[in-house]
Amino acid sequence: MSTTLSARRVARPSVRAWWRDAAGLTAWSSVLFVVALWVSGRGVQDLVSDFFTSAGRLTGLLSADLLLLQLLLMARIPWVERSYGQDELARRHRIAGFTSITLLAAHLVLITLGYAATDRSGVLGEAWTLVTTYPGMLLAAAGTAALGMVAVTSVRAARRRLRYESWHLLHLYAYLGAGLALPHQLWTGADFTASPVATAFWWTAYAAAAGAVLVFRVGRPIWLNARHRLVVEQVVPEGRGVVSVYLRGRDLDRLPVAAGQFFVWRFADGPGWTRGKPFSLSAAPDGSRLRISAKDLGPGSRRLATLRPGTRAFFEGPYGRLTATVRKGRKIALFASGIGITPLRALLEELPYRPGEAVLFQRAGHQADLLFRRELEDLAARRGVRVHYLLGRRSRDRTSWLPAGYAPVPDEQVLRHLVPDLAAHDVYVCGPDAWTGAVLGSARRAGVPADRIHCERFAW
Ligand SMILES: Cc1cc2nc3c(=O)[nH]c(=O)nc-3n(C[C@H](O)[C@H](O)[C@H](O)COP(=O)(O)OP(=O)(O)OC[C@H]3O[C@@H](n4cnc5c(N)ncnc54)[C@H](O)[C@@H]3O)c2cc1C
Repeated sequence: MSTTLSARRVARPSVRAWWRDAAGLTAWSSVLFVVALWVSGRGVQDLVSDFFTSAGRLTGLLSADLLLLQLLLMARIPWVERSYGQDELARRHRIAGFTSITLLAAHLVLITLGYAATDRSGVLGEAWTLVTTYPGMLLAAAGTAALGMVAVTSVRAARRRLRYESWHLLHLYAYLGAGLALPHQLWTGADFTASPVATAFWWTAYAAAAGAVLVFRVGRPIWLNARHRLVVEQVVPEGRGVVSVYLRGRDLDRLPVAAGQFFVWRFADGPGWTRGKPFSLSAAPDGSRLRISAKDLGPGSRRLATLRPGTRAFFEGPYGRLTATVRKGRKIALFASGIGITPLRALLEELPYRPGEAVLFQRAGHQADLLFRRELEDLAARRGVRVHYLLGRRSRDRTSWLPAGYAPVPDEQVLRHLVPDLAAHDVYVCGPDAWTGAVLGSARRAGVPADRIHCERFAW
């Protein structure tokens, strides 16, 4: 793909700064509204007369609200996705998820204790009565089990033991869990039916969550794939264990995508094709073709090398906010390690800057592992990009993003030497977790403001 800027105008995803605030405000307002519903339902007064039941009601309401926010967070709603980016959404999803499941556990215990005290019965007996005699409780128990399984398998230690596909499949049970929990709320939950306002709120919240998932995780991808009909044009080796896949399709100039973004891809090339894999664009979208480049890290990335021209490519997305939209100033400094160069190579092609205003650091173990070298040197010559290749083995005795050869000079001292006015740059970083963390630390210590540091992690 030439490095000259494309002539065809390409639709770019837009982002409004207030979207993020609006999403945050909506989420917090729903939590406050739920608490207000509980208060208006004599929740505070009941804490005195029947602490367990009242506290149980509150934890149940908050858990349900967070569960719906969970679904909205991962529903791939474009305005939310572009405002937060996948890895921040995944991080918030984790926090809201574990908080929701903890509140659910508290809800189960407190309600059982409260009802047992009221019925003057044993706790276990009461739990059995609740599950077997209250409407919708058997479904809710199954839903709780599904949500519990999702939470347990999302604990880092457990997740590390699971293949990504197995974990992802188990995670889909969260939808089942949320669905099974709903009936008992409507049939048993006094707070859900106490007032027309409460009922309207909960039905709207559930409809919004279900609607968002259906529209943005199912409807939109089907529509975009039917419209753009992407197929593999060619597969080209790029370096050791790395290939580029060129894709052609219809009306690509109308696909709202920007350099720095990624898609989740499925290539219809045989068994296992339904497993989606995220790959970033490795060249700026030019309205006629897309390019991704992948390093062979396992079965999903390896099979890209065997793709045949004409193979149908299905995509979800584009996703990610490592784009021009987050940029604050004129100068840019890009830090890439290994295959993390893909989105940054695309950004260097798409972003406007004057000669000398852009600098790229490309980290690799060996010369042979440097990717897109010819394209980067062409960009360097044509657009005045300063390119630094950081080659060599990792330092064994300190956390550093620089090769061992730079030791013992502190990272930020090297950084200040190579980019004296780094604090005036927007810093874009992409690479393995630990390496990215080291670069972010250096950039902060070198005085780069937090809102000028942008990174994408290739692992969720
Ligand atoms: C936002 C993003 C952009 C990426 N862009 C690129 C790119 O441009 N080029 C490139 O070579 N790689 C990229 N990756 C990484 C790439 O998705 C994984 O290397 C690939 O999915 C590995 O799958 P596998 O079957 O080959 O190996 P596996 O053995 O299944 O996995 C290897 C590693 O990749 C992780 N992984 C597997 N499947 C997924 C998935 N669906 N989502 C997230 N992580 C997964 C696993 O947790 C594991 O750590 C990106 C990842 C993310 C999250």
